[in-house]
This record gives sequence, structure tokens and C-alpha cells, in this order.
Amino acid sequence: MNAHVQAPAPTVVKTTCPYCGVGCGVLATPDGFGGAGIAGDTEHPANFGRLCSKGSALGETLSLDSRLLHPSVDGVRASWESALGTVAGGLRKVAEQHGPDAIAFYLSGQLLTEDYYVANKLAKGFLGTPHVDTNSRLCMSSAVAAHRRAFGSDTVPGCYEDLDEADVIVLVGSNTAWCHPILFRRMVDARAKRGTKLVVIDPRRTQTGEEADLFLGLKPGTDTTLFSGLLVHLASAGALDYRFVLDHTTGFEGALERARSIAPDIAATAAATGLPEADVGAFFALFTRTKRVVTAFSQGVNQSAQGTDKGNAIINCHLATGRIGKTGAGPFSLTGQPNAMGGREVGGLANMLAAHMHFAPEEVDRVRRFWSAPNIITGEGMKAVALFEAVERGKIKALWVMGTNPVVSMPRADAIREAIKGLDLYVVSEAVADSDTACATGRKTILLPAQAWGEKDGTVTNSERRISRQRSFLKSPGEARADWAIISDVAKRLGHGEAFAYPNAAAIFREHASLSAFENNGTRDFDIGAVSDISDAAYAGAKPLQWPLTKRGASKDGKQRLFADGQFFTFDKRARFVAVQPPALAQAVSEDFPFVLNTGRVRDHWHTMTRTGKSQRLSAHRDVPFVEIHPDDAAAMGVTHGGLATVSTAHGAAVLEIMVTDGMRRGDLFAAFHWSGATASEGRVGALARGIPDPVSGQPELKATPAAIAPAVYRSRGFLLTRDQRSLPAGWWWARATILGGSGLHFATQESSREVALMLRGMFQGLEIAEYADHARGRYRFAAYDGDRLVACLALAPGEAKPGWESEKAYFAADDLEPSARRALLSGRAETASAGPTVCACHGVGLDVIAATIAAGAHSVEAVGVACKAGTNCGSCIPEIRKLLPQALARDAA
Ligand code: SF4
Repeated sequence: MNAHVQAPAPTVVKTTCPYCGVGCGVLATPDGFGGAGIAGDTEHPANFGRLCSKGSALGETLSLDSRLLHPSVDGVRASWESALGTVAGGLRKVAEQHGPDAIAFYLSGQLLTEDYYVANKLAKGFLGTPHVDTNSRLCMSSAVAAHRRAFGSDTVPGCYEDLDEADVIVLVGSNTAWCHPILFRRMVDARAKRGTKLVVIDPRRTQTGEEADLFLGLKPGTDTTLFSGLLVHLASAGALDYRFVLDHTTGFEGALERARSIAPDIAATAAATGLPEADVGAFFALFTRTKRVVTAFSQGVNQSAQGTDKGNAIINCHLATGRIGKTGAGPFSLTGQPNAMGGREVGGLANMLAAHMHFAPEEVDRVRRFWSAPNIITGEGMKAVALFEAVERGKIKALWVMGTNPVVSMPRADAIREAIKGLDLYVVSEAVADSDTACATGRKTILLPAQAWGEKDGTVTNSERRISRQRSFLKSPGEARADWAIISDVAKRLGHGEAFAYPNAAAIFREHASLSAFENNGTRDFDIGAVSDISDAAYAGAKPLQWPLTKRGASKDGKQRLFADGQFFTFDKRARFVAVQPPALAQAVSEDFPFVLNTGRVRDHWHTMTRTGKSQRLSAHRDVPFVEIHPDDAAAMGVTHGGLATVSTAHGAAVLEIMVTDGMRRGDLFAAFHWSGATASEGRVGALARGIPDPVSGQPELKATPAAIAPAVYRSRGFLLTRDQRSLPAGWWWARATILGGSGLHFATQESSREVALMLRGMFQGLEIAEYADHARGRYRFAAYDGDRLVACLALAPGEAKPGWESEKAYFAADDLEPSARRALLSGRAETASAGPTVCACHGVGLDVIAATIAAGAHSVEAVGVACKAGTNCGSCIPEIRKLLPQALARDAA
């Protein structure tokens, strides 16, 4: 049920998408009943009106199903007064008994900058604990560390316009087509307009790789070798910008010498990376002869035990050629989360203090004075992996998690779920009641209902340093409150009322902006002093702004690019080349675990699916947790496409559906991390990763855990469609997906069809049940009706392939069924052809429709779009459509 209450007047509200770091502008038009129409903001410079499938479906995620609406203490509903008193009392007690550093905060790139700022200030200035880290540690902290080593500051030098203006775009460890789809459209547009070449470097030939002009499917973990080889090649080809290197950098000779020892020439680079020599040569030649090169990198680089070195190996090549801060040229870290950058700005990482300041004594003193902080910290805290290990060891006694789901997303997630049980105080500020993290319990557990997207009010910063407003357009349901208000109320109860007396988010933003400019004088990159006295009204109407925004001169109106002048934020203003370490996998494969498990994302889901999982459109593209494997490996391991397999590591196991694809390298596996305990019985992929941290950034390795794979054999598989969510018996494998009009479960079981019939039919007592049973062949179907209304539908078949449910989903959406449709439903023979599994989520176009469109004569992506609209909105399904084209045409010709 949707119980948002809202005045009926439809007003368009300009806000920002809450998913990836592209930071697209969104126009939300509330419908007066708790929902909203969603469109892209044509005036927002990140997306100019476009939205990807996730952004387009935001209106389908606003229901109050599964929302946390009231505070609770140890599972019992409590007043805010009582819950906040318990939090404050618990924090005080832990600080008194064990010291403040027994308290930890785990924050999120989903928080708004204002929330982040207040949490960071309370912990680091007033409680006096340095242990404040964030899920951004898992996302881009290696990029932060690489920036700091090279530039002396965590600065993204370029802007999105560089993607429009580049002649070559190198994408490293980035499935941009799926994970930053609107930026990928800009890249594809640039190719159409100016012939921009796309080079994709990734062990997996992803949908982005399918679109590449040159795809380099290198061995996992060898990115440093490739870019070391490139640096050597640039030097030997005389392609360096000697003036820039001499005048504006230090450390070149050492970095080049190290690069030579790692990858002395093209042949050695090819041998070490497993790439064809010709491809390495082609990449090096393209990079060498092209001035306008952007190298964009994301999680494939960052989520690595050598992520910082990988980032610096890339940056070295740009510094060596002076291709930085210039139109169409520069290294570019694509951030994963909507406000990863805002979190960095306020100091939400354990190795930062605030406003891009760290722990030099003068910085600590400056922040202490600015905050009038009684308990300012003086050094770094524990980063995410170490922080949760300290929870396991009992060193951390109190943990406050805000807006994130570490019990699913952290490496060794099963161990973390166990460790939480030992906490004296476990506080979760959440919008979702049934997340795995909200369902975990410590000795004292307090759940605090937080506002969700559409209710929150504040700012976020995207990958190009652009600060945009997230505006409220829905009234907060139940007792949900802003995170900053919750934290401030706890601060008041701890005796810090004056420092946390914020009347609104605008006041926090002003303080944050003032701190960025406080005693800055151009010594720190992050400076938004120009908006430190922004009025409430101006804040309410603020357009997207790009920092730096200094009060002084040139960058008063924001600055698109930095470092073109060769001035960096080091003491001598010179950038640093870094002599990177030779690459090595953090953990070698073994006889027991012969594969390398890579984890990542799918196109239509976000993080642990607490929001995108509510959308039937977004749930249709990938509806079960899966593992991708090369055809030769699949044959060798006895697993088949569509079957189930157990993927195990030294840390956990998951049962996943097999996807056989030649996009995988032999010896590699890939699994998406989105499924949680709430959406699948055994799909928690985070539990499998070891997460060995990068020694510089502390970012855990999530791309290379030694793993094993074996068939998971069940007697039969089936599906159950119901109007409301149902649970299946213990021991069954299942995965849940939202469908139009209800909820769907794919399942597998060792029970006989007769036993399944007995067990599941009983769920629908009192309803009219129509059945088809052929127990001798292990087949069973039923449909349950309430009058004319179809309320449940089950199909079970022997064997390991999951029965398709597209036709049944269509019947389920139709609600009331004609007698002929009832018969068809029971027989399993659809009256009309189904659309097939969803390919284009924006327009809800299925595989079978696209195949039919191609068969009918649409022989290009454009023609398919004209005929059935597939691929005409965000375009992130275009690689899949393109892949269907030759296959379908080949079939037609046969
Ligand atoms: Fe949202 Fe998609 Fe834009 Fe990312 S690319 S901000 S998910 S609409």
C-alpha cells in the first residue's frame, strides 16, 4: 500500500537521480497520491533530459512497501524520544567504559552532503572517534588515493564535456554502458559526431566491450602492466610532453625505470597481460598519436588490492603527455554512487578529516577551531575492512550504520552478520525495514526511520564535481526524518546542542561551504566559499554548480577543468609520478579454488535492490542471481546454461544460475552482488569475496577471489506468482522478483511434484484451485482464483532448466481471465506469444518481440527502434540488440 500523503497540486520539482555518480537531473511531478511522474531534466548539464532505465523507473520505487516507518528498540516500536535517548545513552556508556574509539560509524554514498557533514562532525569533532568510514571505501577510495599521490589533492581534473570532445576514450575496468549509461550515450554520440574511438580494457567482454572499436580482454589484475608498457612506449616513441614533465612534475625517471622493469616493450606487455601483441601495439599507437585522450576508470580499477597503483599507472601516462585538464583530455574517475564525491568533500572517509583536509597538525587545529570541537581527533580511523574486523574482534562496541547495507555488500558478509551480534550498541538509520542490515541484531539494536529519495532535501556531487540539489517532493511517511536531524538530536542529547542547532539543510550547507574556504587561500582544491552565505531561498532554487567556487576571482562561477596551468596542490605545486609496484593477484588460485571470481553489477539494479527491486520493469532483465562462465569451463565443470551451480570460496558459498558466455575469459567467473537474504535464498555474493585491502587506499579486492564451481542438482524447478510476497519451505533454493501485479519466485527443490503440490496448495486454502498434475513425469501446475481474479499461479517441471514465466506473467498482469486463458494457463501453452525476457526496460520490450521485429525486416539497431521502440530511450540495451542482429539474421538465412 502506498500511504504517502501529499497535497494534490501537481508541481514539477527539479531534483537529482539517487543512483549512480553520473548525477542526472530529474523532473518529478507528484501525483498527489504518493507517486510521481518522472522525466529527465533537459536543463541539467549531466544528462540534458536523458535518463537510463533505472532513472526512468524511479516512479515505480516510491511505494511504502517495506519502508521503515517508526523507531524501534530491540524490535519493539518506540517513540523518537525514547529511541534517541537510548542511542545517546548507549554511545555515552560505551565512550565512558571503553573510550570513544570503541564507537564507529559506517556511512554511505547515498547520504546527502548535509547528512554526511553532520555525521562526520559529530564523530570526529565531538564524540572523538576517528572510526568513520563509508561504503564509498568499496567504490572509489583507490581513485582518491591515486589522485592524492599524483596531485596532492583528491581532484577529478576533467568534466563530462571532455567525453564529448575526446578523439579517443579509453575505458578501464568500467562497464559504462550498464553502470554509467547516460555518460556512455555521450561517448557513443561523440563517436557519431567526431569519430571518437572507444578502447575498452576489461577481463570481461561486457556490453561496453561489445561496442568498442578496440577491446582488450586482459588477464585480471594486469592493468598496471598495460599502462606501464604504455608509459615505456610513449617515452621510446618520443611522445612525451617534455616541457610539462620538466616544469610541472617530479618523479618521472623513477616511474619510467619501474615501468621498464614491469613491461619493457610491447611483446613483454602482451605476454604479461595475455593480450595479442597486435592489439597492444594498436592501443599504444592510438594513444601515442592522439592528443585528445580521456582515460575513464571505475570499479574494475578501484576494487582491487592494487587499485591505487592501477590508478597511478593511468595518471602517469597522462602526466607524461601533458594530457590533463585540457579540453577532451585527462584521466577521469567515474564514481559509482550518487554522492561519493560529496562524502569525500565533507571528510566521510576514515583517512580524511573534513573539507579535503587531513591530519597535519595545522589542519587538525583549523578544523577544531572552526567547529569549536571539544574532542577533535588527530589521526586516521579504521577503514571499512579493518573497521568490521574490529567489530569481529570486539574492539568496536558501538556501530551506527546509515543508509547502507554492509551485511550484503561488504566482503565476507556472512562473517560481518555474525560479528554484529556481539555489538553492545547497534544503530541503523534506514529507509527500509527488511534490509539484511536492518534485520541483523546486536545486544541492543535501535532502528531509526530515515527519509528516502523524494523526501530528502539537500545536495549531492557527481563525478565531474557538480553539486546538484536533491529536493523533496513527497511528504515523509510515518515518522521518517532527515538523517542530519536525527544525528543532530543525538548530538544535543550528548550535550552538544549549540554546535548542532541547524534549522534546515541550507544552514548545514552554508557551514560546510564556509569550512571549505576557512583559511584556504588557494592551498586546498575543495573550496566552495562563493556559496558560503547562500540564502535559504537561493539554496532552495540553486542550479547545479561545479566546484571550485571560490570567493576570489576566477572560479567564482565554478571551473570545468583543473591543472591545465600545471599547478597542483603539492607543496611545490608539482604533480608526482608514482613508481608503481609490479602487479600480482592478491590471492593465487589453487586446486581447491581454481577460478577467479569477479563481482559487479547488472544494468537494471542498484546496489542491494532495496529500491530497484520494487520495479517490475527493472526486475525483468535479470530475475535470478547468476554466474557467468566461459563455454569451455562450463563443459569442463559439467554445468549448463540455465542450470544452477554452487560457487564457493574460502569465505562462503552461493547457488547461482549459470550463464554461459564467450564474453568471459577461461578461468574467470563473474557474479552480480545485488541479491540479498531478502531477495534470494543463497545469492549473497558479497559473502564470497575475501576483500584483501589495497595497502594504500584500504579499498577491498572484489574482483579476484579464488573460487570453485560445481553443479547444484535439484529434482525440479518451478515458479510461483502471487499477489503478495510468500515464503517457501526451508531448504528450497529461490529468488524473488517483482512482477506486474504481484511477486514472483523462481525456485528449485528436491521434493517430488506430489510433495510440492501438497505443500504449496495449502497456502491458498479457501480459494478456487485449478490443477494439472502428471506426477509420473514430475509435472505440476496450479492456478488459484478469488472469484474471477487470478491470485496465484505455479508451474513445476523436472530437470535443471527453469521454466519460462513470461506468458504466465502476462496472464497475471491481466488479472481477470477468460475461460480460454484459464485453460491455457493450466496447460502451459500460451494463447498468444509472450514478449519474452525483457531486453529494453525503458519501453518494456522483450527478447521475442525484438527477434520478431528483426525477422520482419528490421536489420539495424535504428530500424528495430523505429519498429518497436527498443533502445530508443537510454540506449543501454543497444549492445544486447546489436548482438541479436547477426544471430537472428543468420537464423533467418538458414
Ligand atoms: Fe540515474 Fe541512470 Fe543517470 Fe545514473 S545514468 S544518474 S542511474 S539516470
